[in-house]
Amino acid sequence: MTVNPRTQASSALFARACAATPGGVHSPVRAFGSVGGEPVFIERGEGAAVWDADGNRYVDFQMSWGPLVLGHADADVVAAVQQAAARGLSYGATHRAEVELAELVVSAFPGMAQCRFVSSGTEAVMTALRLARGATGRTLVLKFSGGYHGHSDALLVRAGSGLVTGTDAGSEATSAGIAPDVARTTLVAPFGDDAALDAVFADHGADIAAVILEPLPANNGLLPQQRAWLQGVRRRCDAAGALLIFDEVISGFRLHFGGYGELVGVRPDLITLGKIVGGGMPVGAVVGPRALMEQLAPIGPVYQAGTLSGNPVSMAAGIATLQKLRNGDVYARLEALGARLEAGLRALNRDDVQVVRQGSIVWPWFAASAMPTTAEGAFDAHVGRFRTLHRPLLDAGFYLPPSAYEVLFLSVAHSEADIDGLVAAIAAALPTPATA
Ligand SMILES: *Cc1c(COP(=O)(O)O)cnc(C)c1O
Repeated sequence: MTVNPRTQASSALFARACAATPGGVHSPVRAFGSVGGEPVFIERGEGAAVWDADGNRYVDFQMSWGPLVLGHADADVVAAVQQAAARGLSYGATHRAEVELAELVVSAFPGMAQCRFVSSGTEAVMTALRLARGATGRTLVLKFSGGYHGHSDALLVRAGSGLVTGTDAGSEATSAGIAPDVARTTLVAPFGDDAALDAVFADHGADIAAVILEPLPANNGLLPQQRAWLQGVRRRCDAAGALLIFDEVISGFRLHFGGYGELVGVRPDLITLGKIVGGGMPVGAVVGPRALMEQLAPIGPVYQAGTLSGNPVSMAAGIATLQKLRNGDVYARLEALGARLEAGLRALNRDDVQVVRQGSIVWPWFAASAMPTTAEGAFDAHVGRFRTLHRPLLDAGFYLPPSAYEVLFLSVAHSEADIDGLVAAIAAALPTPATA
Protein backbone atom coordinates (compact mmCIF):
# COMPACT_ATOMS: atom_id res chain seq x y z
CA MET A 1 0.00 0.00 0.00
CA THR A 2 1.32 3.47 -0.85
CA VAL A 3 1.83 5.55 2.25
CA ASN A 4 -0.22 8.71 2.51
CA PRO A 5 2.15 11.45 3.76
CA ARG A 6 -0.73 12.94 5.77
CA THR A 7 -1.02 9.80 7.90
CA GLN A 8 2.43 8.28 7.83
CA ALA A 9 2.82 8.09 11.61
CA SER A 10 -0.49 6.19 11.79
CA SER A 11 0.70 3.87 9.01
CA ALA A 12 3.92 3.10 10.86
CA LEU A 13 1.98 2.38 14.05
CA PHE A 14 -0.48 0.20 12.17
CA ALA A 15 2.36 -1.90 10.77
CA ARG A 16 3.64 -2.46 14.32
CA ALA A 17 0.13 -3.09 15.60
CA CYS A 18 -0.50 -5.75 12.95
CA ALA A 19 2.63 -7.57 14.09
CA ALA A 20 1.72 -7.47 17.78
CA THR A 21 -2.06 -7.82 17.58
CA PRO A 22 -4.41 -9.73 15.26
CA GLY A 23 -5.49 -7.28 12.56
CA GLY A 24 -3.78 -4.49 14.50
CA VAL A 25 -6.84 -3.77 16.63
CA HIS A 26 -8.45 -4.79 19.90
CA SER A 27 -12.02 -4.60 18.59
CA PRO A 28 -12.64 -5.51 14.96
CA VAL A 29 -14.55 -2.53 13.48
CA ARG A 30 -11.61 -0.30 14.38
CA ALA A 31 -9.61 -1.89 11.54
CA PHE A 32 -11.64 0.12 8.96
CA GLY A 33 -12.33 -3.13 7.09
CA SER A 34 -15.72 -2.04 5.82
CA VAL A 35 -14.67 1.43 4.66
CA GLY A 36 -11.23 0.55 3.31
CA GLY A 37 -7.78 1.98 3.98
CA GLU A 38 -5.87 1.99 7.23
CA PRO A 39 -7.18 3.30 10.53
CA VAL A 40 -5.78 6.51 11.96
CA PHE A 41 -4.19 6.26 15.40
CA ILE A 42 -5.68 8.63 17.92
CA GLU A 43 -3.24 10.47 20.14
CA ARG A 44 -5.58 12.59 22.23
CA GLY A 45 -9.13 13.89 22.52
CA GLU A 46 -10.49 17.15 23.85
CA GLY A 47 -14.06 18.37 23.65
CA ALA A 48 -15.53 17.32 20.29
CA ALA A 49 -12.13 16.76 18.65
CA VAL A 50 -9.51 14.07 18.40
CA TRP A 51 -5.97 14.37 17.06
CA ASP A 52 -4.13 11.56 15.31
CA ALA A 53 -0.49 10.49 15.53
CA ASP A 54 0.38 12.82 12.63
CA GLY A 55 -1.22 15.80 14.36
CA ASN A 56 -4.32 15.91 12.13
CA ARG A 57 -7.41 17.18 13.92
CA TYR A 58 -10.85 15.61 13.44
CA VAL A 59 -14.26 16.57 14.73
CA ASP A 60 -15.33 13.28 16.27
CA PHE A 61 -18.79 11.89 15.54
CA GLN A 62 -18.00 8.46 16.98
CA MET A 63 -17.37 9.62 20.56
CA SER A 64 -16.02 6.25 21.66
CA TRP A 65 -19.24 4.60 20.36
CA GLY A 66 -21.47 6.49 22.78
CA PRO A 67 -19.98 6.96 26.25
CA LEU A 68 -18.64 10.48 25.73
CA VAL A 69 -21.88 12.43 26.02
CA LEU A 70 -19.91 15.26 27.68
CA GLY A 71 -17.15 15.20 25.06
CA HIS A 72 -13.55 14.07 25.36
CA ALA A 73 -11.63 14.85 28.54
CA ASP A 74 -14.42 16.78 30.26
CA ALA A 75 -12.63 18.80 32.95
CA ASP A 76 -14.87 17.64 35.82
CA VAL A 77 -14.70 13.98 34.83
CA VAL A 78 -10.93 14.10 34.40
CA ALA A 79 -10.49 15.82 37.77
CA ALA A 80 -12.64 13.18 39.48
CA VAL A 81 -10.64 10.41 37.82
CA GLN A 82 -7.31 11.98 38.80
CA GLN A 83 -8.39 12.39 42.40
CA ALA A 84 -9.64 8.82 42.55
CA ALA A 85 -6.49 7.45 40.93
CA ALA A 86 -4.34 9.19 43.53
CA ARG A 87 -6.21 7.25 46.22
CA GLY A 88 -5.41 3.89 44.62
CA LEU A 89 -6.37 2.23 41.35
CA SER A 90 -8.19 -0.79 42.72
CA TYR A 91 -9.09 -2.21 46.11
CA GLY A 92 -11.00 -5.39 45.41
CA ALA A 93 -13.09 -4.38 48.40
CA THR A 94 -16.22 -2.34 48.92
CA HIS A 95 -15.93 1.45 48.94
CA ARG A 96 -18.01 4.63 49.04
CA ALA A 97 -18.02 5.50 45.33
CA GLU A 98 -19.74 2.21 44.45
CA VAL A 99 -22.59 3.15 46.76
CA GLU A 100 -22.84 6.66 45.35
CA LEU A 101 -22.92 5.54 41.72
CA ALA A 102 -25.36 2.71 42.46
CA GLU A 103 -27.71 5.20 44.16
CA LEU A 104 -27.43 7.61 41.23
CA VAL A 105 -28.13 4.88 38.70
CA VAL A 106 -31.06 3.38 40.56
CA SER A 107 -32.60 6.85 41.04
CA ALA A 108 -32.83 7.19 37.27
CA PHE A 109 -35.01 4.11 36.68
CA PRO A 110 -38.52 4.10 38.19
CA GLY A 111 -39.42 0.74 39.67
CA MET A 112 -35.81 -0.36 39.95
CA ALA A 113 -34.15 -0.70 43.33
CA GLN A 114 -30.69 -2.19 42.93
CA CYS A 115 -27.77 -2.33 40.59
CA ARG A 116 -24.72 -4.56 40.23
CA PHE A 117 -21.63 -3.18 38.51
CA VAL A 118 -19.45 -5.07 36.07
CA SER A 119 -16.78 -3.84 33.66
CA SER A 120 -18.51 -3.89 30.26
CA GLY A 121 -21.86 -4.02 28.53
CA THR A 122 -21.11 -7.58 27.47
CA GLU A 123 -20.73 -8.64 31.09
CA ALA A 124 -23.90 -6.79 32.08
CA VAL A 125 -25.87 -8.75 29.49
CA MET A 126 -24.24 -12.06 30.49
CA THR A 127 -25.19 -11.39 34.09
CA ALA A 128 -28.74 -10.34 33.27
CA LEU A 129 -29.33 -13.49 31.23
CA ARG A 130 -27.93 -15.78 33.91
CA LEU A 131 -30.07 -13.98 36.45
CA ALA A 132 -33.16 -14.42 34.25
CA ARG A 133 -32.44 -18.12 33.79
CA GLY A 134 -31.81 -18.57 37.48
CA ALA A 135 -34.97 -16.71 38.46
CA THR A 136 -37.25 -18.50 36.01
CA GLY A 137 -35.64 -21.93 35.92
CA ARG A 138 -35.90 -21.75 32.11
CA THR A 139 -33.26 -21.99 29.40
CA LEU A 140 -34.21 -20.11 26.22
CA VAL A 141 -33.58 -16.46 25.42
CA LEU A 142 -35.20 -14.54 22.58
CA LYS A 143 -33.32 -11.74 20.83
CA PHE A 144 -34.02 -9.79 17.65
CA SER A 145 -32.01 -9.75 14.46
CA GLY A 146 -29.91 -6.60 14.24
CA GLY A 147 -29.84 -6.22 18.02
CA TYR A 148 -26.33 -6.21 19.46
CA HIS A 149 -25.75 -7.29 23.04
CA GLY A 150 -22.01 -7.69 23.27
CA HIS A 151 -19.80 -10.60 22.34
CA SER A 152 -20.82 -13.40 24.68
CA ASP A 153 -21.35 -16.80 23.05
CA ALA A 154 -25.11 -17.07 23.38
CA LEU A 155 -25.74 -13.73 21.69
CA LEU A 156 -23.53 -14.07 18.62
CA VAL A 157 -26.30 -15.84 16.75
CA ARG A 158 -28.69 -15.33 13.88
CA ALA A 159 -31.95 -17.00 13.00
CA GLY A 160 -31.59 -20.37 11.37
CA SER A 161 -33.87 -21.04 8.43
CA GLY A 162 -37.39 -21.89 9.52
CA LEU A 163 -37.09 -20.59 13.06
CA VAL A 164 -39.52 -17.72 12.89
CA THR A 165 -42.11 -19.82 11.12
CA GLY A 166 -42.03 -22.17 14.06
CA THR A 167 -40.35 -25.12 12.40
CA ASP A 168 -37.37 -24.42 14.62
CA ALA A 169 -34.24 -25.13 12.66
CA GLY A 170 -32.42 -23.54 15.60
CA SER A 171 -30.17 -20.51 15.64
CA GLU A 172 -26.73 -20.48 14.07
CA ALA A 173 -23.64 -18.90 15.54
CA THR A 174 -22.30 -15.83 13.72
CA SER A 175 -18.80 -16.54 15.01
CA ALA A 176 -16.60 -19.60 14.92
CA GLY A 177 -15.90 -21.15 18.29
CA ILE A 178 -19.43 -21.20 19.67
CA ALA A 179 -20.85 -24.52 20.79
CA PRO A 180 -23.97 -25.37 18.73
CA ASP A 181 -25.77 -26.26 21.94
CA VAL A 182 -25.15 -22.74 23.22
CA ALA A 183 -26.31 -21.09 19.99
CA ARG A 184 -29.50 -23.15 20.16
CA THR A 185 -30.43 -21.62 23.51
CA THR A 186 -31.03 -18.28 21.78
CA LEU A 187 -34.06 -17.75 19.56
CA VAL A 188 -34.01 -14.92 17.03
CA ALA A 189 -36.97 -12.99 15.60
CA PRO A 190 -37.19 -9.87 13.41
CA PHE A 191 -37.97 -6.48 14.98
CA GLY A 192 -41.47 -5.14 14.70
CA ASP A 193 -43.11 -8.39 13.60
CA ASP A 194 -46.04 -9.43 15.76
CA ALA A 195 -46.75 -12.60 13.79
CA ALA A 196 -43.17 -13.82 14.23
CA LEU A 197 -43.39 -13.10 17.97
CA ASP A 198 -46.62 -15.04 18.22
CA ALA A 199 -45.05 -17.99 16.45
CA VAL A 200 -42.02 -18.02 18.75
CA PHE A 201 -44.13 -17.75 21.89
CA ALA A 202 -46.56 -20.40 20.65
CA ASP A 203 -43.71 -22.84 20.11
CA HIS A 204 -41.43 -21.95 23.01
CA GLY A 205 -43.24 -19.64 25.41
CA ALA A 206 -43.03 -21.94 28.41
CA ASP A 207 -39.26 -22.32 27.98
CA ILE A 208 -38.32 -18.68 27.43
CA ALA A 209 -36.44 -17.24 30.42
CA ALA A 210 -36.07 -13.78 28.92
CA VAL A 211 -36.61 -11.61 25.89
CA ILE A 212 -33.73 -9.20 25.40
CA LEU A 213 -33.77 -6.19 23.12
CA GLU A 214 -32.47 -2.71 22.64
CA PRO A 215 -35.72 -0.77 23.02
CA LEU A 216 -34.13 1.75 20.66
CA PRO A 217 -32.07 -0.48 18.35
CA ALA A 218 -28.91 1.47 17.49
CA ASN A 219 -26.38 -1.13 16.44
CA ASN A 220 -27.63 -1.94 12.94
CA GLY A 221 -28.27 1.61 11.97
CA LEU A 222 -30.92 3.30 14.08
CA LEU A 223 -34.18 1.33 13.90
CA PRO A 224 -36.76 2.99 16.19
CA GLN A 225 -39.66 0.64 16.89
CA GLN A 226 -43.35 1.40 17.38
CA ARG A 227 -44.44 1.87 20.97
CA ALA A 228 -47.35 -0.54 20.36
CA TRP A 229 -44.93 -3.24 19.26
CA LEU A 230 -42.78 -2.75 22.38
CA GLN A 231 -45.94 -2.92 24.50
CA GLY A 232 -46.84 -6.14 22.71
CA VAL A 233 -43.48 -7.64 23.61
CA ARG A 234 -44.12 -6.73 27.26
CA ARG A 235 -47.59 -8.34 27.14
CA ARG A 236 -46.32 -11.56 25.62
CA CYS A 237 -43.56 -11.82 28.23
CA ASP A 238 -46.11 -11.39 31.01
CA ALA A 239 -48.44 -13.97 29.51
CA ALA A 240 -45.63 -16.50 29.13
CA GLY A 241 -43.91 -15.80 32.44
CA ALA A 242 -40.73 -14.64 30.68
CA LEU A 243 -38.65 -11.70 31.87
CA LEU A 244 -38.17 -8.65 29.65
CA ILE A 245 -34.65 -7.23 29.55
CA PHE A 246 -34.02 -3.84 27.98
CA ASP A 247 -30.44 -3.55 26.84
CA GLU A 248 -29.92 0.18 27.30
CA VAL A 249 -26.15 0.13 26.97
CA ILE A 250 -26.46 2.85 24.30
CA SER A 251 -29.81 4.43 25.14
CA GLY A 252 -29.36 4.63 28.92
CA PHE A 253 -28.72 8.31 29.86
CA ARG A 254 -28.44 9.24 26.15
CA LEU A 255 -31.86 10.88 25.69
CA HIS A 256 -32.70 11.88 29.25
CA PHE A 257 -31.54 11.06 32.79
CA GLY A 258 -32.81 7.50 32.64
CA GLY A 259 -33.80 4.90 30.11
CA TYR A 260 -35.60 4.78 26.80
CA GLY A 261 -38.19 2.43 28.28
CA GLU A 262 -39.53 5.25 30.43
CA LEU A 263 -39.88 7.49 27.36
CA VAL A 264 -42.07 4.93 25.59
CA GLY A 265 -43.89 3.85 28.73
CA VAL A 266 -42.74 0.24 28.77
CA ARG A 267 -41.10 -1.04 31.95
CA PRO A 268 -38.76 -4.03 31.63
CA ASP A 269 -37.87 -6.45 34.42
CA LEU A 270 -34.14 -5.86 34.08
CA ILE A 271 -32.03 -3.17 32.44
CA THR A 272 -28.46 -3.50 31.24
CA LEU A 273 -26.23 -0.44 31.08
CA GLY A 274 -22.75 0.41 29.87
CA LYS A 275 -21.11 3.17 27.85
CA ILE A 276 -22.37 6.48 29.38
CA VAL A 277 -22.68 5.01 32.89
CA GLY A 278 -18.88 4.74 33.01
CA GLY A 279 -18.23 8.18 31.51
CA GLY A 280 -15.54 6.71 29.26
CA MET A 281 -14.19 4.20 31.76
CA PRO A 282 -15.06 0.48 31.63
CA VAL A 283 -18.33 0.07 33.52
CA GLY A 284 -21.42 -2.02 32.92
CA ALA A 285 -24.43 -2.48 35.17
CA VAL A 286 -27.48 -4.65 35.68
CA VAL A 287 -30.41 -2.79 37.19
CA GLY A 288 -33.60 -4.32 38.55
CA PRO A 289 -36.09 -4.63 41.38
CA ARG A 290 -34.82 -5.90 44.70
CA ALA A 291 -36.47 -9.31 44.71
CA LEU A 292 -34.95 -10.15 41.35
CA MET A 293 -31.54 -8.61 41.97
CA GLU A 294 -31.19 -10.47 45.27
CA GLN A 295 -31.17 -13.70 43.30
CA LEU A 296 -27.53 -12.76 42.66
CA ALA A 297 -24.71 -13.98 44.91
CA PRO A 298 -23.98 -13.50 47.75
CA ILE A 299 -27.68 -13.48 48.69
CA GLY A 300 -29.08 -15.67 45.96
CA PRO A 301 -27.97 -18.72 43.99
CA VAL A 302 -26.96 -16.94 40.75
CA TYR A 303 -23.17 -16.56 40.77
CA GLN A 304 -21.51 -13.42 39.44
CA ALA A 305 -18.21 -11.75 40.29
CA GLY A 306 -15.43 -9.48 39.00
CA THR A 307 -11.92 -8.58 40.18
CA LEU A 308 -12.25 -5.03 38.87
CA SER A 309 -16.03 -4.64 39.31
CA GLY A 310 -16.85 -1.33 40.97
CA ASN A 311 -13.34 -0.12 40.22
CA PRO A 312 -12.84 3.16 42.13
CA VAL A 313 -11.45 5.12 39.20
CA SER A 314 -14.27 3.96 36.92
CA MET A 315 -16.87 4.72 39.57
CA ALA A 316 -15.46 8.25 39.89
CA ALA A 317 -15.86 8.83 36.15
CA GLY A 318 -19.41 7.50 36.26
CA ILE A 319 -20.39 9.66 39.23
CA ALA A 320 -18.92 12.83 37.72
CA THR A 321 -20.66 12.14 34.42
CA LEU A 322 -24.08 11.29 35.86
CA GLN A 323 -24.01 14.26 38.21
CA LYS A 324 -23.51 16.59 35.27
CA LEU A 325 -26.26 14.85 33.32
CA ARG A 326 -28.68 15.10 36.24
CA ASN A 327 -27.96 18.68 37.18
CA GLY A 328 -27.28 20.41 33.87
CA ASP A 329 -29.26 21.35 30.80
CA VAL A 330 -27.32 18.78 28.83
CA TYR A 331 -30.27 17.10 27.13
CA ALA A 332 -31.77 20.29 25.70
CA ARG A 333 -28.39 21.09 24.20
CA LEU A 334 -27.99 17.58 22.75
CA GLU A 335 -31.46 17.77 21.21
CA ALA A 336 -30.70 21.14 19.64
CA LEU A 337 -27.46 19.87 18.12
CA GLY A 338 -29.13 16.71 16.85
CA ALA A 339 -31.95 18.72 15.31
CA ARG A 340 -29.41 20.98 13.62
CA LEU A 341 -27.58 18.05 12.04
CA GLU A 342 -30.85 16.50 10.90
CA ALA A 343 -32.05 19.80 9.42
CA GLY A 344 -28.72 20.40 7.72
CA LEU A 345 -28.78 17.01 6.02
CA ARG A 346 -32.39 17.49 4.92
CA ALA A 347 -31.55 20.95 3.57
CA LEU A 348 -29.12 19.32 1.13
CA ASN A 349 -32.35 18.38 -0.57
CA ARG A 350 -31.05 15.18 -2.15
CA ASP A 351 -33.07 12.00 -2.34
CA ASP A 352 -29.88 10.03 -1.61
CA VAL A 353 -29.37 11.75 1.75
CA GLN A 354 -31.88 10.72 4.40
CA VAL A 355 -31.66 10.67 8.16
CA VAL A 356 -33.27 9.11 11.21
CA ARG A 357 -32.56 10.62 14.60
CA GLN A 358 -33.40 10.29 18.27
CA GLY A 359 -31.91 13.18 20.23
CA SER A 360 -28.15 13.10 19.80
CA ILE A 361 -28.12 9.72 18.02
CA VAL A 362 -28.08 10.34 14.29
CA TRP A 363 -28.04 7.82 11.47
CA PRO A 364 -27.53 9.26 8.00
CA TRP A 365 -28.62 7.11 5.07
CA PHE A 366 -26.88 7.67 1.78
CA ALA A 367 -29.25 6.01 -0.66
CA ALA A 368 -32.49 6.92 -2.40
CA SER A 369 -34.20 3.73 -1.22
CA ALA A 370 -36.46 3.87 1.81
CA MET A 371 -34.67 3.70 5.16
CA PRO A 372 -35.11 0.27 6.76
CA THR A 373 -36.83 -0.28 10.10
CA THR A 374 -35.54 -3.83 10.56
CA ALA A 375 -32.23 -5.57 9.94
CA GLU A 376 -33.86 -7.46 7.07
CA GLY A 377 -34.01 -4.25 4.99
CA ALA A 378 -31.88 -3.58 1.88
CA PHE A 379 -28.68 -1.90 3.09
CA ASP A 380 -26.36 -2.44 0.09
CA ALA A 381 -26.74 0.88 -1.73
CA HIS A 382 -26.16 2.85 1.48
CA VAL A 383 -23.20 0.68 2.47
CA GLY A 384 -21.59 1.14 -0.94
CA ARG A 385 -22.01 4.91 -0.90
CA PHE A 386 -20.82 5.23 2.72
CA ARG A 387 -17.65 3.44 1.73
CA THR A 388 -16.89 6.18 -0.81
CA LEU A 389 -17.57 8.97 1.71
CA HIS A 390 -15.68 7.84 4.79
CA ARG A 391 -12.13 8.62 3.65
CA PRO A 392 -12.93 12.00 2.06
CA LEU A 393 -14.67 13.01 5.30
CA LEU A 394 -11.64 11.90 7.28
CA ASP A 395 -9.39 13.93 4.98
CA ALA A 396 -11.71 16.92 5.52
CA GLY A 397 -11.30 16.60 9.30
CA PHE A 398 -14.43 14.64 10.28
CA TYR A 399 -14.14 11.28 12.04
CA LEU A 400 -17.20 9.10 11.47
CA PRO A 401 -17.54 5.55 12.78
CA PRO A 402 -15.96 3.29 10.16
CA SER A 403 -19.12 1.40 9.25
CA ALA A 404 -22.34 2.28 7.45
CA TYR A 405 -24.27 0.41 10.15
CA GLU A 406 -23.04 2.61 12.97
CA VAL A 407 -24.82 5.68 14.25
CA LEU A 408 -23.23 9.08 14.87
CA PHE A 409 -23.09 10.34 18.44
CA LEU A 410 -23.11 14.01 19.38
CA SER A 411 -21.91 15.47 22.66
CA VAL A 412 -22.42 18.74 24.48
CA ALA A 413 -18.87 19.61 23.42
CA HIS A 414 -19.89 19.82 19.76
CA SER A 415 -20.55 23.29 18.38
CA GLU A 416 -22.94 24.51 15.73
CA ALA A 417 -19.89 25.06 13.52
CA ASP A 418 -18.87 21.40 13.99
CA ILE A 419 -22.31 20.28 12.82
CA ASP A 420 -22.47 22.69 9.90
CA GLY A 421 -18.94 21.72 8.92
CA LEU A 422 -19.89 18.05 8.72
CA VAL A 423 -22.92 18.82 6.56
CA ALA A 424 -20.80 20.91 4.20
CA ALA A 425 -18.13 18.20 4.02
CA ILE A 426 -20.76 15.58 3.21
CA ALA A 427 -22.17 17.82 0.47
CA ALA A 428 -18.69 18.25 -0.98
CA ALA A 429 -17.89 14.52 -0.83
CA LEU A 430 -21.10 13.36 -2.52
CA PRO A 431 -21.17 12.93 -6.28
CA THR A 432 -22.93 15.62 -8.27
CA PRO A 433 -26.57 14.60 -8.44
CA ALA A 434 -27.75 13.23 -11.78
CA THR A 435 -30.78 15.47 -11.61
CA ALA A 436 -30.27 18.97 -10.26
C1 LIG B 1 -21.93 -1.63 23.16
C2 LIG B 1 -23.09 -2.50 23.46
C3 LIG B 1 -22.97 -3.68 24.22
C4 LIG B 1 -21.64 -4.24 24.63
O1 LIG B 1 -20.95 -3.39 25.49
P1 LIG B 1 -19.36 -3.57 25.64
O2 LIG B 1 -19.00 -2.60 26.71
O3 LIG B 1 -18.79 -3.26 24.29
O4 LIG B 1 -19.11 -4.98 26.03
C5 LIG B 1 -24.11 -4.36 24.59
N1 LIG B 1 -25.31 -3.92 24.22
C6 LIG B 1 -25.48 -2.80 23.48
C7 LIG B 1 -26.86 -2.35 23.14
C8 LIG B 1 -24.37 -2.08 23.06
O5 LIG B 1 -24.54 -0.99 22.30
